[in-house]
Amino acid sequence: MKIASFELGPVATNCFLFWEEEGEEAVLVDAPQGAWRNIEPVLEQEGLKLSKLLLTHGHWDHMMGASRIKEEQNVDTWGHEADRKLFAEPAIMSAFAMPGMSLNPIGIDHWVGEGDVVEILGRQAEVRHVPGHCPGNVLFYLEEEKMALVGDAIFAGSIGRTDLPGGDFEVLAKAIRERIYTLPDEVVLLPGHGPSTTVAHEKATNPYVSG
Ligand SMILES: [Zn+2]
Repeated sequence: MKIASFELGPVATNCFLFWEEEGEEAVLVDAPQGAWRNIEPVLEQEGLKLSKLLLTHGHWDHMMGASRIKEEQNVDTWGHEADRKLFAEPAIMSAFAMPGMSLNPIGIDHWVGEGDVVEILGRQAEVRHVPGHCPGNVLFYLEEEKMALVGDAIFAGSIGRTDLPGGDFEVLAKAIRERIYTLPDEVVLLPGHGPSTTVAHEKATNPYVSG
């Protein structure tokens, strides 16, 4: 499986594009501002059609590029119901966004929850609910690839902020211990901001949530 990551938008949000060599479809995880502009050349060059957009959570910086993508390609979207309000009314977060930014709502076609399975290019991605940064943060775990897309739950050496509406440190710490630190040690964590890390590394060294 091929993967390209892009760090985009005013707060440097990661998004991840997956495809298969010789394949015809691609899957995108998160859609920051400018996502379409950045992924389109890859889709074109590789002869791919974007088939899915998975959203780790409903914060504006992870979905500002989603409506443009929906205009360009008829993709279905996935997200957790606990962030329904954020997907529908992203402007409620405008106090935390950049001034003057227009925040478009995004329709979610498929609501996912703890234990669900989402297919990514023929592989089964397990959905784990990791609330605390916001109510509806999920991770997508690709067992075969030893990889988990974790949104803003945990970062290399840090954790998601818990001071935004719907955030709660105790909830996040519990979710990280129960749903991230229980993944195999060697699993690579791909967060919504900053570099990748591993389960083992964060369990051993994360200063906010000990393993
Ligand atoms: Zn966030």
